[in-house]
Amino acid sequence: MPTDVAIIGCGPVGALLGNLLGAAGLAVEIHDRDRAIHPLPRAVHFDGEVMRIFQAAGLADRLAATARPSSKGMEFVNAGGRTLMVRRGIEGPGPHGWAGNWYFHQPLLEEVLRDGLKRYPNVRLQLGHEVGSVDDLDARFVVGCDGARSLVRQAIGSTPIDLGLHQPWLVVDLLCNPDSPRVQALPDHTVQLCDPARPMTVVKVGGARRRWEIMLMPGDDPANMATPDVFWPMMARWLGPDDATLERSAVYTFHSVVQQGWRRGRLLLAGDSCHQTPPFLGQGMCAGMRDAANLAWKLAAIVNDGAPDALLDTYESERRPHVASFIELAVRLGAVLQETDPAAAAERDRRFEAGAQSFDFPQPQLGPGVRLDGPPPVGTAFPQPQLSGGRLMDEAIGARFAVVGDGALMHDLGIDAVRLPGVGLDVLARHGVRAAILRPDRYVFAVARDAAELAAAAAALTTMLKPA
Ligand SMILES: Cc1cc2nc3c(=O)[nH]c(=O)nc-3n(C[C@H](O)[C@H](O)[C@H](O)COP(=O)(O)OP(=O)(O)OC[C@H]3O[C@@H](n4cnc5c(N)ncnc54)[C@H](O)[C@@H]3O)c2cc1C
Repeated sequence: MPTDVAIIGCGPVGALLGNLLGAAGLAVEIHDRDRAIHPLPRAVHFDGEVMRIFQAAGLADRLAATARPSSKGMEFVNAGGRTLMVRRGIEGPGPHGWAGNWYFHQPLLEEVLRDGLKRYPNVRLQLGHEVGSVDDLDARFVVGCDGARSLVRQAIGSTPIDLGLHQPWLVVDLLCNPDSPRVQALPDHTVQLCDPARPMTVVKVGGARRRWEIMLMPGDDPANMATPDVFWPMMARWLGPDDATLERSAVYTFHSVVQQGWRRGRLLLAGDSCHQTPPFLGQGMCAGMRDAANLAWKLAAIVNDGAPDALLDTYESERRPHVASFIELAVRLGAVLQETDPAAAAERDRRFEAGAQSFDFPQPQLGPGVRLDGPPPVGTAFPQPQLSGGRLMDEAIGARFAVVGDGALMHDLGIDAVRLPGVGLDVLARHGVRAAILRPDRYVFAVARDAAELAAAAAALTTMLKPA
């Protein structure tokens, strides 16, 4: 069987894309140079929208069993313990039908994603195989999920847009002794310690595992940061060697870069290969998961339904501004957290004297692409309500388009879409509209106030997807 899509890299993004394309029936091969899952400490957080993407991949329950849901937010505190900023938490099931924040151990998540691939005889995973050149791959499309040093990105010739932050940090996971009073006193929520003497991030991952991210200061030697003599004194305010053992550590330089040029012909990029963010929002992998969800339905529409290849040009135009707004916020947060000049830090603290500032994750619109022009909710992820029988909305839709809202508007649309009359009316009413067309990735293609607007939107969609 000829290969529809070759994926280079079986990190979280390549593995998720393989699952989504496998479910769509495409012939997929995935290559990774390593056999083992990446062992060093990286992602610990994903959000409710990403859990919804895992739901689309049929893996939400398995991932929920390995991750810790949290209703709590993230707090930026100064050296004196005063709160400067708060990323708000989300109570109960959030807008996506799942807890808004999840904490996890990345190797376990990747294990579940890789295991999910076994469900599809049409997906071939080749581990221990380094791709030396994209020309070696005989596939209709090649997706570079090959990380920050991407080979596919070189082949495309993408141009980096530097968003300005490049800073080395030590990242450690500790296995904590649950009986230690100092461990019991640790915060339940994520703390960003904005101490000019030594900025740090503290995260409760799950079980006994906790994450510390510790900024390197001038004069620090990256090679010995995790040795006991250097490490434990930096931890003095939290824990000592009797309270926890160091599980794993690495020094990374955090970057903030978006590439321009995510596609050239059959070559595409997803994940860290086309964007990198400092981890202060816990959103790097999340962005890659959104890439995979965006790309998967478009590749399936081309291969299965004959949609034009030009559909893939909407992938970067939609996703690049979206991911850039997350990275730009992470860079702004980094400027607060990483201030090391005591006078500038004192000045910063005075800016927040009137009270802590609260914020949420950005909810940007997709850039132009497979959507009509218009304000939100167009181009944003539509919430996932529970249907009357208790099922979540996406379960009733599957990997298809859907029309939600006022059933009286839904006649003779001429598109292949699941109709869900009566669903989402409250959300639509808040925006002064009566119906919406949702894409297979649940982003809103168009909204309508009446039957004529809905019919016009459906006709526009048909034109965009029409076989070349
Ligand atoms: C300290 C830290 C904390 C983080 N925290 C978070 C967080 O809380 N939340 C979050 O969402 N994100 C976080 N991230 C980011 C997240 O870890 C990455 O965005 C994510 O791992 C990227 O996934 P990927 O699949 O794109 O790339 P990778 O995981 O890098 O996978 C790329 C794969 O491609 C393979 N490969 C590369 N070249 C080739 C080749 N030529 N042939 C074959 N195989 C190849 C590699 O072996 C690798 O397996 C964090 C990152 C760091 C460093």
